[in-house]
Amino acid sequence: MDPQAYSEFYKYTSDQISALSWNPITQTHTPFRASLNHRHHTWAKTHFSHPELYLRPQSLPEIKLIVTLARQNGKKIIVVGSGHSPSDLTCTSSWMVNLDDFSSVVAERKDEMQLELEAGIRLHQLADELEKRGWAMPNLGSITAQSVAGAIATNTHGSSLRHGTLAQAIIGITLMLASGESVKCSTMENKDLYHAALVSLGGLGIITHVTFQAVPAYNLKWHQDIIKTPNMLEAWNKDLWTREEFVRVWWFPYSGRSIIWQADKTEDPLRERPPSWYAATLGRFSYEFLLYLATWVPPFMPIVERYVFYMQYGWGEGETGNAVQKSYEALTMDCLFSQFVNEWAIPLEKGPEAITRLQAWLTGDAENISGIPFSSRGIFVHAPIEVRVSDTTLQPEKPWLDQSYHSGPTLYLNATLYRPFHRNPPEWERYYEAFEYLMKELGGKPHWAKNFTTATKEEFGQMYPKLGDWCKLREELDPQGVFRSGWLERNLLPE
Ligand SMILES: Cc1cc2nc3c(=O)[nH]c(=O)nc-3n(C[C@H](O)[C@H](O)[C@H](O)COP(=O)(O)OP(=O)(O)OC[C@H]3O[C@@H](n4cnc5c(N)ncnc54)[C@H](O)[C@@H]3O)c2cc1C
Repeated sequence: MDPQAYSEFYKYTSDQISALSWNPITQTHTPFRASLNHRHHTWAKTHFSHPELYLRPQSLPEIKLIVTLARQNGKKIIVVGSGHSPSDLTCTSSWMVNLDDFSSVVAERKDEMQLELEAGIRLHQLADELEKRGWAMPNLGSITAQSVAGAIATNTHGSSLRHGTLAQAIIGITLMLASGESVKCSTMENKDLYHAALVSLGGLGIITHVTFQAVPAYNLKWHQDIIKTPNMLEAWNKDLWTREEFVRVWWFPYSGRSIIWQADKTEDPLRERPPSWYAATLGRFSYEFLLYLATWVPPFMPIVERYVFYMQYGWGEGETGNAVQKSYEALTMDCLFSQFVNEWAIPLEKGPEAITRLQAWLTGDAENISGIPFSSRGIFVHAPIEVRVSDTTLQPEKPWLDQSYHSGPTLYLNATLYRPFHRNPPEWERYYEAFEYLMKELGGKPHWAKNFTTATKEEFGQMYPKLGDWCKLREELDPQGVFRSGWLERNLLPE
């Protein structure tokens, strides 16, 4: 668009633009649903941006028009799903495209339990669509707010050694390239593109459609148990991760305790989740208020952790809650307040060493066993540190930018730091520097969407043997850099 066309454009509101049958700006009948003055922020309100145009297309021709105009006018496109990536992955001052209005079921193959979906569909909408058909998602992370495209683009995972990441359920993708061409890919056609596009961080084009492989609907019977952390570590190499289909651990470093949450499929009748202390208004407010106080008086934090642990779970070892729920209800949870999250994948077998060394560092390291060359003085962290797993070793080929390991199962350690009433906790960067030092020593790779702080381009090159191919393919598909975001330039792409 030339500047003249822009000034013409600004005369219209987005509703008027959408209603025009002949669009004087784009010279087509295709609507260009753009709004000005959109203020974007991430879920945790840790990153903000003000895109020049915010676009909500409703059809493939509209998406094609956006891509074509962006390319012709030297604009960059960032696609945003639900904005749940904790980093600035979705921030831009150029054009922001959101597919919330492009989120329907396009086709279904009943016998194969497959749905073809417009890629803006949120996971909770997908769960509803699947439920109507007696189907479900095989695996899920902690929430269902994400768009399906956004969830796979950053390699979102749940916690189960019988599953890989969420991308495993996506058996086909349609991608709108910077050229405006729409390309289908799967293991049967355009195989390289498929493996590059499954985890693509918005960098290859706009994922417009996905084919989703569902499983029969299932309910989960879950229970959670308090266990002393040394006992949890002792069970690590026995049956901790295999005793039920879904297992996750919440580790509380100052309480010396962990919660093991585990779930298996069941035919039992549904049974409500027990009340949660911090789900109630008073519990929630007091937790956030105590965290807030601890930002002013950090040594108070271990007491806060023990108090909250006691109020939420009790103290003695043993079961502290159970329920029977639909799969997507059981697997999801309340993530509470605004937070920084820094999650790394390491080989599962390194878990006990990682937890033992980090535990020692966080609690003073009197015996000097952490091996972390930074002082932990004045650092008091939040709990739980989430401990989750996946296993992709049986997958014949993985997405090129998948964090999981080839030689064995993968462990994810998630160092959460709350931001009570949106106040940053003190020394959070120093904690993350130390945490990342340890993760790198153990061969770790950061979660693409989260708040890693020290990983460099060179290190990413070593972590991902296929990164060079991915960057090369990206350049071939998008020589003008429509999808070359600031985040990609900073973290992955060659100068
Ligand atoms: C409370 C909370 C809980 C979470 N729980 C988990 C968890 O359990 N496990 C886990 O692994 N992660 C978890 N995450 C991270 C989250 O799953 C990812 O950040 C996910 O990418 C968010 O999806 P989204 O739709 O919000 O995508 P966004 O954050 O909006 O975008 C993420 C990336 O996807 C790209 N993208 C989005 N749509 C498209 C498209 N149509 N075409 C091409 N690229 C696209 C964007 O450009 C961007 O690069 C959690 C985050 C929060 C805030």
